Amino acid sequence: MSRTKKVEAAGRFGPRYGRKVRKLFIDTERKLRRKYKCSNCGALQVKRVSTSIWQCKRCGVKFAGGAYSPSMPTTSVETTSGGRSDVEV
Ligand SMILES: [Zn+2]
Repeated sequence: MSRTKKVEAAGRFGPRYGRKVRKLFIDTERKLRRKYKCSNCGALQVKRVSTSIWQCKRCGVKFAGGAYSPSMPTTSVETTSGGRSDVEV
């Protein structure tokens, strides 16, 4: 009997890594295992084939997306300008 009651999928790490890392890992893995909606045929059959590669089991369309979900919501582009001026007068 393995003792993975609280850590779920992160249990495979054993006693390594911290609580936060494990939690993040569990969240990520949950996303990975979920089925997503196909943008081509609309079926809820899109699964991750490999990192950033997703395939619809119904129509067979394969496409690149985010590493952990087919579509990348808002975090893809990040502006680092910040509006801070480096010029000193
Ligand atoms: Zn499809």
